[in-house]
Amino acid sequence: MKPVSEKLSDGLNKQITAEFESAYLYLAMADFLQGRNFDGMAYWFRKQADEEKTHAMKIHDFLIERHLTPVLGEIKAPNTQWTGVMNVFDEAYQHECLVSSMIYDLVAQAMEDKDYASLSMLQWFVDEQVEEEEQSLALLEKARMIDDVASGLMVLDQQMGARTD
Ligand code: MG
Repeated sequence: MKPVSEKLSDGLNKQITAEFESAYLYLAMADFLQGRNFDGMAYWFRKQADEEKTHAMKIHDFLIERHLTPVLGEIKAPNTQWTGVMNVFDEAYQHECLVSSMIYDLVAQAMEDKDYASLSMLQWFVDEQVEEEEQSLALLEKARMIDDVASGLMVLDQQMGARTD
């Protein structure tokens, strides 16, 4: 198997950091929601944060498999100046769209390199992003529908607290 190109391994290393930054962002969102007594929403975002860590490790372990040493970058503190639930969900959705574009850049590089092993690994992320974007957009649309009405927020809080995966 031909080695991972420097450009692609740089990108994969940056993606490890980006996935940990996603985990950090979602944990901060969980804490913000917890502070407003939305226990179910906080639980949902904690689960989301856990999932992001598994994304980071998936790329991390792929680099190990390809006989490379992962380079762990600096994790930026998230901006936590949210105005409310809708603002949190809006940022979560925008964030997933950004992550998708980062994944597509990695795919483009792997294609240019004709690195089929990396492409196969990245395909999992392409599929995952479809789910992530859909999920966060659905939450945003529900929040827009509720428009900050307490009874609606409480129902959504309960629904999000029932997350099983
Ligand atoms: Mg992710």
